[in-house]
Order: sequence, then structure tokens, then C-alpha cells
Amino acid sequence: MSRKRKKKKISVIFLFILFFILIGGFILMIMNNNKKKTVENKANIKEEEVTKEMEKAPDNSSSYDSLPDGEYVTSKGFILKKENGISYVDGNMIVNKTYSLPKTFVPINPYNGDSTSPWCINCIDKDVMEAFKIMQSDAKSLGLNIYISSGYRGYDRQVTLYNNYVDRDGVEAADRYSARAGHSEHQSGLCFDLNSIDDSFTNTNEGKWVNNNAHLYGFIIRFPKGLEDETGYQYESWHLRYVGKELATKLYNDGNWLSLEGYYGLSSVY
Ligand SMILES: [Zn+2]
Repeated sequence: MSRKRKKKKISVIFLFILFFILIGGFILMIMNNNKKKTVENKANIKEEEVTKEMEKAPDNSSSYDSLPDGEYVTSKGFILKKENGISYVDGNMIVNKTYSLPKTFVPINPYNGDSTSPWCINCIDKDVMEAFKIMQSDAKSLGLNIYISSGYRGYDRQVTLYNNYVDRDGVEAADRYSARAGHSEHQSGLCFDLNSIDDSFTNTNEGKWVNNNAHLYGFIIRFPKGLEDETGYQYESWHLRYVGKELATKLYNDGNWLSLEGYYGLSSVY
């Protein structure tokens, strides 16, 4: 073989190798791309399945009532559990204009009283009353007098109360400060009203102390100032709800109270 032919043969082989490398690379690129697409498709399908499984939490009471027991996702991504018609987020019972309690519900673990009676301060939950007693005693040591004026209120009691307010002020006004039966948090036994149960409490030394310290005992100002659009109720400095110290401290928000609805992403609409 001449040197010239040898050179030619080598360059042909070289071109062949180069050609195969290029083809091989191209095939690999296409295969990789397809694989990526399959993974992406799978991810999309999975996401769809999750949204299908987890329905959104309702945005008014008639859609709540039509929902079966189960798990729903709130607008802030929390899981809302409906069990025997009662709603919970993170173990905290939710009662507002959207979320009601069954007519027959009475506090499960009352402090000291018969919670079938329609109006009973001692029928509030035992843990709640014990937390209140510590708060009351700490307030007393500072010369402040706080006391529960209204605690548990049964379903039938709320029917009478609400109807009286509607007769006096009309439905629209009554709905801003009173709950329809089944929608009152007072039926849960987890809340109470302090002292005068009106705006005059807000600027008393007791009212100011409660606003700044209730969270240390696990209580929240349930209807904070300026958040009527979220809670469905006007500001009530005297209505405290027990949620435990951790959540209460988050909602206290360094003195700029957040609402339970705003924090969890829940509605409060009839
Ligand atoms: Zn109240």
C-alpha cells in the first residue's frame, strides 16, 4: 500500500468515526429529551390527582353544610377536617358564619356543670377554665379584676338571643355582633365574654392588660380591630377564645392581632 492510499484510508475511517459519534450523540439527546417529557407528564398527573383528592374549603355556610365529612384544603394550604359535622384545623375547632356546630353539640369536657343547661359559665371546657383561672389570678396580683360574664351558651339559648337582636336591630345589624344558632362560638365551650361585654371594656386597665397578655395563657382576641371582613364580626375586646399558647402567640403578632380566619385562610360568611 502506498503512503498516499494509507493516508486516504485513515481519513475515511476517521470521518466514519466522527459521523457515528455525531449520530450517537444526536440519538442520545433525543432519548434524554423524551425521558424528561415523561417525567414532567408524570409530575403533572400527580399534581392533578392531589387537587382532585383535596377539595377546597367552602366559602359560605350553605356550601359547608352540603360537604360530607372529610378533609379539605384552605386558601392558605391548611388541612380542614370535618368530623361528625364539626370542623377542625390543626386540632382547633372552627366555629364562625361558614362553619357551624351540630344542634346537639355540647362541650365534651366541661369544667363543672351540666352543659345541657342553656346558659352556664362553668360548663366551658375544663382546660379553658383552668387557663382562665391562672390568667385571672395573675391579673388580680396586679390589682385588676377580670371575670367571665358569659361562657357556654346552648343552641336553644342562642336561638332566643339572636331572634331578640333581629327584632330590635334587624338582620343585617344583628349579624355583625350576634351569631345565628349553631354558628356561635359560645356553643363550643372554648370561649367566653369578660366583664361588661361591651366597648367600655376596651380602654379599662383590665381591657388593655387582656389585649396585651391573653396570648400568654393561650387566649386570643377572637374578633380583632379592623378585621371584620375576615371574622365576620365587629371588634370585641371582651370575647376571648382558647387556642393554646403557641397559636395564640402567633396571632398576637407583637400586639397587632391577626384573626383565626386570616391566619388559617378560612371564610366566615353565611
Ligand atoms: Zn362572645
